[in-house]
Amino acid sequence: MMKFLTKNILWAVGIFFVIAMLFSLAYKETKEPIQMTLDQVATKINASEVSQLVVSGDALEIELKNGDKGVSKKEAEAGLTETLTNYGVTPEALQQISFSVKDESGFKFWMAALLPILLPILIIGVIFFFVFRQAKGGANQAFMFGKAKLKMFTPFKGTVSFEDVAGLKEAKQELMEVVDFLKNPKKYLAMGAKIPRGVLLLGAPGCGKTLLARAVAGQAGVPFFHISASEFVEMFVGVGASRTRDAFETAKKAAPSILFIDEIDAIGRERGSGMGGGHDEREQTLNQILVEMDGFEKDTNVIVLAATNRPDILDAALLRAGRFDRRVVVDLPTIEDREAILAIHGRGKPLAKDVDLKQIATRTPGFSGADLENIMNEAAILAARKGEKTIIQLDLYEAVEKVLLGPERKSKVISQREKEITAYHEAGHALVGSSLKHADPVHKISIIARGHAGGYTLKLPTEEMFLKTRQQFLAEIATLFGGYVAEQVMFGDNSTGASNDLQRASDMARRLVTKYGMSDKLGPQTFGKTHELMYLGKEVGNEKNYSEKTATDIDAEVKGFIDRSYLVAKKIVASRKDALEAIAKRLIEKETLEKEEFDVMLKELKVKKA
Ligand code: ADP
Ligand code: MG
Ligand code: ZN
Repeated sequence: MMKFLTKNILWAVGIFFVIAMLFSLAYKETKEPIQMTLDQVATKINASEVSQLVVSGDALEIELKNGDKGVSKKEAEAGLTETLTNYGVTPEALQQISFSVKDESGFKFWMAALLPILLPILIIGVIFFFVFRQAKGGANQAFMFGKAKLKMFTPFKGTVSFEDVAGLKEAKQELMEVVDFLKNPKKYLAMGAKIPRGVLLLGAPGCGKTLLARAVAGQAGVPFFHISASEFVEMFVGVGASRTRDAFETAKKAAPSILFIDEIDAIGRERGSGMGGGHDEREQTLNQILVEMDGFEKDTNVIVLAATNRPDILDAALLRAGRFDRRVVVDLPTIEDREAILAIHGRGKPLAKDVDLKQIATRTPGFSGADLENIMNEAAILAARKGEKTIIQLDLYEAVEKVLLGPERKSKVISQREKEITAYHEAGHALVGSSLKHADPVHKISIIARGHAGGYTLKLPTEEMFLKTRQQFLAEIATLFGGYVAEQVMFGDNSTGASNDLQRASDMARRLVTKYGMSDKLGPQTFGKTHELMYLGKEVGNEKNYSEKTATDIDAEVKGFIDRSYLVAKKIVASRKDALEAIAKRLIEKETLEKEEFDVMLKELKVKKA
């Protein structure tokens, strides 16, 4: 309220100024008339300088022959001629000038009389007009709350198409089929098939769910309505349900059409779970969606598309047949997909000839489409900052590390001693990793701090793997210990730099025993019930479902794995102190070692995988 009051006052003041300016301009136009006494007027008349006299009331306007104007006042009671004669004007002179009498009740008179009263009223009126107009708008807005802010995509040139979505073949196929339902419903109805009502896109964030839906909009050739579920529930209680009704109504009117509800988990949470504070509003909105989806006639050609990355928390009622019974899983991209995504986002960017996107794809396992887009963008920014004409491969490598570990912190001051410790630590990882047959090859070693890491050794699998063997796990654990062991061997001491390595090693060892059945003693069994997020493989809770005795056994087995791996690492580092020192010295000198250079070093040092 306060805000638009001030706004209106500002408006009124502005208008007032404009009016005042106009008036002053109008007055400036005419020259200020000369004030004269009747005596002076008489003299001028006798001198034949006056051309016209205008009488209005008591006022006398004098027009001189030279164009000047004058004003004067005559006596109220007496007539003009009489007065002038009294002042000595000769009758001959009087005859030469023309007289006119102006009615004083003219426009000017009224303006002069009324303006002081009218102007304030006018200004107040203007203020009221604006205040009311705003208030009315506000009231209308209040009535609009129940309306959903549906965005309609109409397929036009320049929209996203399936070509802009790399990989995700199965998802695309499934969606094409759905679009076909909409376009040729008869074909399916003739077979007695029911048209699917809802399609749920599931997958990790940034994998292209929203993108895919937008591509469907471009591809489908039917009206496509888009709303984010959080927009259903906003600000005021009680609007969610009516907004839902409105959204479905609009979609039905435009049928055949697609209604896309993004991030549906915002309202589709399990009802009554108490999560999110038992928000009633959300439940009502969800109920309304269920009602609307059931309310579709058998041949209503509306398909509801929804996306979420939390399918685990969705209400079971949403997922049952007849609602979102079709599910399309949007996976993290594979190595080929990653290359394709990089290529898509490399479009329109000046890539140098040496750029090998396959290499970048190799270095980015587990990255989502959004991460990859980010890499291309970061690379472009880096190239621009360096003043290069094209984006070179090194920019891309740099961008990968930046996205992975945070920006380089070259400015972080580390003492010579710390630099040495970091160098030996990383050299330890690299040496152990390069000596074990089942460990992933080292791609890069660096002792430049990044994000929270003091230094890092980048190891990557030669090919994309979906399965991992016990030997690979053990090699990885040993490699993780490489840094810790190197510090011990070189300095007879340990630093906090190894803490993250140790944590990862411990977690991995425990998983070998409790989840993968890789312990000989406990055998092919799993322990503990982990609640994983469906499709996403994230653990959210752990339930103990074994005895204390078993717990002791598990701990013993985990320790066994750790001890063995530690010994493997220690043996390698202790027996190749020369190699460790050579790598560390080179690191202190150059700070980063790329794969090519490191491979040459390994050959010279005769470090081989065994
Ligand atoms: P979400 O699954 O979280 O909805 P988005 O669809 O918003 O993710 O994806 C974020 C961005 O990542 C997209 O705008 C797109 O640029 C990029 N992206 C994700 N997956 C792909 C893909 N398969 N092909 C091309 N670009 C992709
Ligand atoms: Mg999204
Ligand atoms: Zn380490």
